[in-house]
Amino acid sequence: TPTPLTLLGTGAMGTALARAWLAAGHEVTVWNRTPARAQALAAEGAVVARSAAEAVAANRLVIVCLLDDASVGDALDGAGLAGRDLVNLTTGTPGEGRTRAAWAEARGARFLDGGIMAVPPMIGVAGSGGYVLYSGSPELFEEHRDTFAVPAGTRYVGADPGFAALYDVALLSAMNGMFAGMLHAFALVRPEDIAPKDFAPLLVDWLTAMAPAVHQTADQLESGDYTRNVVSSLAMQAAGVPTFLRTAEEQHVSPELLAPYLELMQRRVAQGHGEEDGTGMIELLDLRRGA
Ligand code: NDP
Repeated sequence: TPTPLTLLGTGAMGTALARAWLAAGHEVTVWNRTPARAQALAAEGAVVARSAAEAVAANRLVIVCLLDDASVGDALDGAGLAGRDLVNLTTGTPGEGRTRAAWAEARGARFLDGGIMAVPPMIGVAGSGGYVLYSGSPELFEEHRDTFAVPAGTRYVGADPGFAALYDVALLSAMNGMFAGMLHAFALVRPEDIAPKDFAPLLVDWLTAMAPAVHQTADQLESGDYTRNVVSSLAMQAAGVPTFLRTAEEQHVSPELLAPYLELMQRRVAQGHGEEDGTGMIELLDLRRGA
């Protein structure tokens, strides 16, 4: 029989999670700070608890999906966590994940941190590609992995409770870089008689063609040799910087999204690394090395 569970937080994401578990036949007890926001779920079969402490007392498996780490502290303050399996799907930093794990363990709970790589419409939809990163107690993950697989795919990334947040934020950071580049590209063509819908497929194809460069970067990072299998040297790329900047100027586009990356390229070349490709710029980002 499906494991009964408690869910704290019925915002956009919490509501989607609750619906997926209810649809799969789980008994779900929910709590939300603003009770009105949990009422729709009551009509769909959820039990609405009057307090977070009451919700936590109802089930051993407790899932938390609140705004941020501070709201998790607020909600769980005073709840009895001894013997509970606490799964925190609230987005936070790796440090917050580790601190929250120690906090939960000191209160007698097993702990898993999670990072949701999905938007609410992807939750509970098979084949949507959405998944949740988990890290922390391997025993907790193993015991409940089938329950976790109900709303989205699952990826366990290690016993360090900071890793789910680390992977999550790393992936989203790369996404931000991609979105920044996409916006700059659209801004460049915008002043012309070029329909964004005509340009979009070219952009998708180009980004897709370039995405496997991730593997080349990983290969160079693992070997420590940033000159290995270089396709486009940094010297060549840096020589193109004025073209990027002048094109932005000609099109009346602010270079502010692109400029920091171009400056990093030039700095690495100036330090004598023009024969590498972009991978070596990671040394300039690494503040442990006094960059
Ligand atoms: P919402 O803004 O829809 O919901 C926020 C929830 O947090 C509400 O239940 C709100 O309660 C509660 N809350 C806020 N502050 C407090 C507090 N101090 N004490 C108790 N409860 C509090 O956000 P989402 O549901 O979209 O997001 C929830 C988590 O999921 C976030 O960490 C988010 O980063 C993550 N996530 C969301 C995604 C998305 O696309 N939506 C994608 C991936 C992750 P109240 O109703 O009373 O305000």
